[in-house]
Amino acid sequence: MNMFEKISEHQQVVFCNDEHTGLKAIIAIHNTTLGPALGGCRMQPYKSVDEALEDVLRLSKGMTYKCAAADVDFGGGKAVIIGDPLKDKTPELFRAFGQFVDSLNGRFYTGTDMGTTPEDFVHALKETNCIVGVEEVYGGSGDSSAPTALGVIYGLQATNKAVWGSEDLHGKSYAIQGLGKVGFKVAERLLEEGANLYVTDIHQHVIDDLLTKANKLGVTVNVVKGNEIYSVDADVFIPCAIGGILNDDSIRDLKVKAVVGSANNQLLELKHGKILQDKGILYAPDYIVNAGGLIQVADELYEPNKERVLRKTKAIYNSLLDIYKQAEESGLTTVEAANRFCEDRMMARKNRNSFFSHAKRPKWDVRN
Ligand code: NAD
Repeated sequence: MNMFEKISEHQQVVFCNDEHTGLKAIIAIHNTTLGPALGGCRMQPYKSVDEALEDVLRLSKGMTYKCAAADVDFGGGKAVIIGDPLKDKTPELFRAFGQFVDSLNGRFYTGTDMGTTPEDFVHALKETNCIVGVEEVYGGSGDSSAPTALGVIYGLQATNKAVWGSEDLHGKSYAIQGLGKVGFKVAERLLEEGANLYVTDIHQHVIDDLLTKANKLGVTVNVVKGNEIYSVDADVFIPCAIGGILNDDSIRDLKVKAVVGSANNQLLELKHGKILQDKGILYAPDYIVNAGGLIQVADELYEPNKERVLRKTKAIYNSLLDIYKQAEESGLTTVEAANRFCEDRMMARKNRNSFFSHAKRPKWDVRN
């Protein structure tokens, strides 16, 4: 396959090479119909350039759908830096990366993803304004897990309404996989609502923190180990840890009526959406449920405002109910319905948005 065939779905792919800092990065811009491309920058010791290219092409396409679903004025993009995050990071490397981002003149905005931290992008910010998600002291909006967790709560309410006719969170039982930044906040809220919880995490300290919280509220939490989380007798499964967990084995074990969580790429393959549907399990597409963080970084263009972000995140509730309705009426799976919804939205806006007119820059500028 020649390079143009490989990138045939993408608008632009930029290979960035800086011999002084050792930077080797790829920026992929998938689609700018809805606005300039937005997507995080991953750093990983990829085994080959082909592997890095494949990753950045896949992830940037995913961002196009995520932005369209969240109705933010951005398109899909992503960047990958080829290198070991534990050994190869230097401030100069991220400054060099920032210069390449700046050379795109507002067509691509980026920030932290796997293997990179908001601190890394403080260096990049010295070279370009097209950086999102740094800490508040640098003019960014900081940790995005609060709106992401809130989006999961709205997703749960919409799903409860679709399955049981009431959005109430209490009186139901939930199985949470992963009590990190997002999962812990979701668990706290559900405990406060009087829900019955099954939880698991590979780190005991986060489980202990949740048990302390439950103790204070006078409620109990059921702690389970590893894969036991798939087979507990809960109403809803909430994956908040890793991707690919909805596969042949786990779906066979699931007793829940719905899956609603923040983890990215929950379905191992698209066919698992159909397997869930055939088993009578309502699946809330992950990229709709977990859009709170994206909504927060996209909102930075208008200067950070937490209250506004939380309000915008509320739209996840209605988006999800619309997708459920469309899936039911069309016979599609919920993921297929969500993908079609995003493609229709982009078609409807095609020719209306120009990626140049949308290349707004943040109002603040920390550069000297
Ligand atoms: P995190 O790293 O803070 O938390 C993940 C938690 O999962 C950790 O406590 C970890 O110990 C646990 N974990 C890892 N593997 C596990 C396993 N096999 N079984 C049980 N627990 C396991 O991450 P986070 O920010 O809370 O994000 C959670 C998920 O949501 C991730 O998939 C992330 O990509 C996705 N997401 C997060 C955001 C955000 O704003 N933070 C936005 C969109 C999507």
